[in-house]
Amino acid sequence: MIPKVHETTNEKILSQEDSRLREASHDVPFDEIKSPKIKKLVKEMSDILATQDDGVAIAAPQIGVNLRIFVVSGKVFEHENGPKMPDRVYINPVIIRASKKTILKSGEGCLSVRWLYGKVVRHTNVTIEYYDQNRNHNKRGAGGLLAHIFQHEIDHLDGILFIDKAVEVEEILPEENIQDEK
Ligand code: ZN
Repeated sequence: MIPKVHETTNEKILSQEDSRLREASHDVPFDEIKSPKIKKLVKEMSDILATQDDGVAIAAPQIGVNLRIFVVSGKVFEHENGPKMPDRVYINPVIIRASKKTILKSGEGCLSVRWLYGKVVRHTNVTIEYYDQNRNHNKRGAGGLLAHIFQHEIDHLDGILFIDKAVEVEEILPEENIQDEK
């Protein structure tokens, strides 16, 4: 049997050498937030994210669309033995507060930068403002993993990849994801 890498890459996810990952993305015009075009884009982002066992979030430029949107997997909000949660969508997000306290976060990776991982200085807490899909303007503070996700994803919207900031970058191949072909 030939070992096969199981859903560890998705051809729709751009990889680091693609110039679209390096552009600053544009705000979604307020009038278009509820449009079929944006609904379709968000659904596609969620569907693609769901193919990635280790994926916690995805930004629109990662699938070649330079709009300021990212989606965080519902699994980030789930608790052990708790209910399954839907993905959350953040449109035109802006960091309005960031803690002075930072942490050298290890093990940061990216669906567009396979299979490198490194340590990145991140604020321990951030507060963002954003629109949801119903055009409500929301404010949300986050610490821990979610704070790091917000910073990583908003970097994508500014054309920044974690490897631009990371130290001690190493390649860790997804051996645990290699399965026998069924
Ligand atoms: Zn990323």
